[in-house]
Amino acid sequence: MSWSKLLKIVGVLAFFSYQTHAQTISKQGFLQFQSNFAEAEQQLDARLADTPSDTPASIELNLQKSQLYMLYQRADLLKPLLDEIQQRIFAQNDAVVQSHWYLLSGIQFYLVGKYAQADERFLLSLELLKSNNRPLENAYLENFILMYQAVNRVYLQQYEAALAELTAVYKVAEKNSWPIIQARSLVFMGEVNYALKNYEQALEYYHNAYNTYPENALIYRAETLMFEAQMVNIVGERSVAFTQLEQAMNVFIEQQDDTRLANAYLLKSYFYSKVPDDTQALEWIAKSVKKREQLGNAIEIANAYVHYSSQLGTNGQMPLALQYAKKAADLAEVHEDIAGQWDSYGNYADLLNQAGDYQQAFHYMQLSERALLKKARLDITSQTATLNAKFNLSREQLKSEFLDKQGQLLEERNTLLNEQLLMEQRQQRHQNWVLMVLSAALVFFLIMCAVIYRLYIKNKLLASRDPLTSLHNRRSVLMLGEQVLHSSDRYQFAVSVLMLDIDSFKAVNDRFGHETGDRVIQYVANICLAAIRKPDYVGRVGGEEFLLVLPHTDEKAALLLAKRLCEQVVAADKKSIEQVKQVTVSIGIATKNIQSDQPHNSDPHKDLNQLIREADAALYIAKEKGRNQVQVYHTDLDLKDHAVNLDASTPNMLRTLPD
Ligand code: GH3
Ligand code: MG
Ligand code: MG
Repeated sequence: MSWSKLLKIVGVLAFFSYQTHAQTISKQGFLQFQSNFAEAEQQLDARLADTPSDTPASIELNLQKSQLYMLYQRADLLKPLLDEIQQRIFAQNDAVVQSHWYLLSGIQFYLVGKYAQADERFLLSLELLKSNNRPLENAYLENFILMYQAVNRVYLQQYEAALAELTAVYKVAEKNSWPIIQARSLVFMGEVNYALKNYEQALEYYHNAYNTYPENALIYRAETLMFEAQMVNIVGERSVAFTQLEQAMNVFIEQQDDTRLANAYLLKSYFYSKVPDDTQALEWIAKSVKKREQLGNAIEIANAYVHYSSQLGTNGQMPLALQYAKKAADLAEVHEDIAGQWDSYGNYADLLNQAGDYQQAFHYMQLSERALLKKARLDITSQTATLNAKFNLSREQLKSEFLDKQGQLLEERNTLLNEQLLMEQRQQRHQNWVLMVLSAALVFFLIMCAVIYRLYIKNKLLASRDPLTSLHNRRSVLMLGEQVLHSSDRYQFAVSVLMLDIDSFKAVNDRFGHETGDRVIQYVANICLAAIRKPDYVGRVGGEEFLLVLPHTDEKAALLLAKRLCEQVVAADKKSIEQVKQVTVSIGIATKNIQSDQPHNSDPHKDLNQLIREADAALYIAKEKGRNQVQVYHTDLDLKDHAVNLDASTPNMLRTLPD
């Protein structure tokens, strides 16, 4: 007897959730029932009782109830409910709601083994959805339908198409992060592999699916674990398979999932038959039969009867075995599950043969073969389809491996580039810091340079200036005078030197005080400074003595300047020197002439000291001759009298001041 179609994937899930009245699909993607089957049903019924039946809210609740039935694979409850709400659904002119109804109806047909009709419903559902023309909003539902259309095709022997569609759906779900659809399409891809007897592959898909489901998708995970157990029993450790199945069964019991519990019983029986432990095998298949009879799904019941009768035959209970085998064969006639028909007829023929009823055995063997032929025809020779599908499977696998690898490489490259970028950024930041610090240091350095330079200039100025008058001090004016003399030697120009001394200054100090004396010194200094030209220098060389160095100035010009100075000292405004009403100065002049001009000039290479000595000598004469006058020095020491009696009423200070 054939065990090839032990369990069919009939897992459906509640897939959409309406926002109340708005009838748009939540991106959550499926309705989560927090309680077990009975409680969830009760809650929905209670809400339905409170909702007027023609409202969109009522339709939504009914659709939710349908989802609950789908989740628990209760085709027996789903069909009447769908029939009941059909009219109300189509009275409402909402393509999306109608599309939902067709999907549910398609799944109901799928559950009871009417695959052609299911396929038709899925098509209608898709068409309605497309007519709605809101592709983005409906993308989730569309892929959900596509996924069921694909798995339904496995039972129409269209493995290749099923696989291609499931792969496409999987990719969309992965891209959009729809874990339920993602995991579900993996389960269905496992199913294709199972149908093609690629058990190892199927196991891998189931295992991936199990890990892809969200943790709170209790029933789906338990179901997937059961499928995994089925594969492990074939290609792995039987003890592991038993443990996994037990785990799944506990969830089904908790959630009151009778359909899957019946599947689990059947699977457990199968495991025991392989141990072999025929007593246990019979016990568990009997349980499954009882449960499936209660649920009333003909295709499932027929499937259970096949296994039950086979086990009864093994255990030597031939009459009962024949009875159940006949029941299975009768039920098989009405459904479209060709593989199921083949199983049922073959099983009955087998048992009839054992019982010696060769004529009947032959009849059912013929029926069985006819089913097989039909199946083969549908396969377009099942071998080709299998090979094709296998080829595509490995191609898909290679493709995804390649894509994975490519993705990995790209990722590695990206990380590398990112790291490089980060490093460069870090370097850049570091460089910026260094630059900033250097700039700050440079600015600081420049500021310091400026400060130091200013201090230096100030210092230099201070060092060369007389603090009282701001004129050149003695050292400075002598140095400048030397330079002028040096230039005059080289470029042959006349230089005159004036030595100026305030008359009877001691008396000023004595009479008006030292401070006033200082102001008189400043007064004379200012007059000197105002009188000279740009290239001239004036410095304070003694207490109340000033030296003027006048380049390009011959004796005549020097005399003019000196006289003017004498006059100005007498005549200038004396507000700054308060009580002092009269100030006079005496001036001695010495000139170094150009050689050719002045043949009497005996020493054309006079130096500054010489000139100063001569000017001093002239000054001495001026003092001698009564002050407030100018004297010019001559080599023959015949000093001419250049006294300037500016005003008869302005007698010299000496005479005016008391002793
Ligand atoms: P003479 O007409 O002959 O030049 O008579 P004099 O009083 O000016 O004689 P002399 O040149 O000898 O006197 C200079 C006086 O100037 C001596 C000193 O007390 C005074 N003196 C020197 N330096 C300063 C100074 O910086 N400030 C003041 N207030 N007085 C000074
Ligand atoms: Mg003096
Ligand atoms: Mg004096």
